[in-house]
Amino acid sequence: MKPPRFRYHAPESLDEALAVLAETGDEAKPLAGGQSLIPMLNMRLARPSLLIDLNGLSELAGIELRDGVLVVRAMTRHRAVERSPLVAEHVPLLAEAIPWVGHLPIRTRGTIGGSVAHADPAAEVPGVLVALDGAVRLASRRGERLVSADEFFLDLLTTAAEPDELVTEVHFPLLGPHSGSAWLEIARRHGDYALVGAGAVLVLAEDGRTIQDARLSFIGVAGRPVRARGAEAILRGQSIGEEAWKAAAAAVREELDPPSDLHASAQYRRSVAGVLAERALAIAAARAQGGVAA
Ligand SMILES: Cc1cc2nc3c(=O)[nH]c(=O)nc-3n(C[C@H](O)[C@H](O)[C@H](O)COP(=O)(O)OP(=O)(O)OC[C@H]3O[C@@H](n4cnc5c(N)ncnc54)[C@H](O)[C@@H]3O)c2cc1C
Repeated sequence: MKPPRFRYHAPESLDEALAVLAETGDEAKPLAGGQSLIPMLNMRLARPSLLIDLNGLSELAGIELRDGVLVVRAMTRHRAVERSPLVAEHVPLLAEAIPWVGHLPIRTRGTIGGSVAHADPAAEVPGVLVALDGAVRLASRRGERLVSADEFFLDLLTTAAEPDELVTEVHFPLLGPHSGSAWLEIARRHGDYALVGAGAVLVLAEDGRTIQDARLSFIGVAGRPVRARGAEAILRGQSIGEEAWKAAAAAVREELDPPSDLHASAQYRRSVAGVLAERALAIAAARAQGGVAA
């Protein structure tokens, strides 16, 4: 199918983009990598009267460390994140999850800002952001604000961003010493959206065995990326090992309430979420101890 008729504007600065967006509001759609927006236009699931092309805004691209946070600007391509030594060193969970985003040509065009703004419930970047208690910076003519990942993702393709706001930065907090993380997922074919994906983060005490903090996030199991907070609470204070992982997996199956659709049943998703949690926790623990992941 062909998209409905629309006007096109390519601003030369962020200020210009925000000014145009302030005038047009929800009639307009920002165009980033176009990997989700263009198919939605072609299928007529979106009918904006104006596209504001962000691709010329070099001020919106780049990756840097700032006050204990890895800041990825909105127009940074997935592929740039995948190849970044800064990301690999400081936010390995993101580096591990990114290759699961579609196929190489999609990651070459798709952007980090587009991934969080689009808010697909099976998308990897939002899942990583929720696991790390990250945040999203929004800008409009009215000013700027930093919204926590937990408050940003509301529901299927729905975020806390207002129609006149642009995502400008995505903030991934760094983990401290004695910590490890792991990302695992199940998809029917490589490049498909995940049926279920899981991110685990563990912070160990000085003894290298006691779990000080645990975080588990899941994609593909609800309208937005979710944390299994009951399982996290069970893990805190426990010793690392099979027993703890099995208890957490049981809690995950108990507290998640995934949907059934034509790709997988709720029961299958719940079962897989438990298995992924168990495996991801074991890998995260080995990494936190500085060992080789089993
Ligand atoms: C075959 C296929 C498989 C895919 N598989 C996966 C997958 O496994 N995992 C995954 O995560 N993604 C997947 N994607 C989607 C892909 O990652 C997209 O790149 C991503 O979802 C959106 O990023 P984009 O830069 O292309 O945004 P666009 O498509 O340009 O925009 C998406 C939405 O976000 C809005 N937007 C974009 N940037 C901003 C901004 N800075 N501020 C405010 N709003 C903004 C747009 O207006 C639009 O509504 C797949 C896509 C395809 C075609």
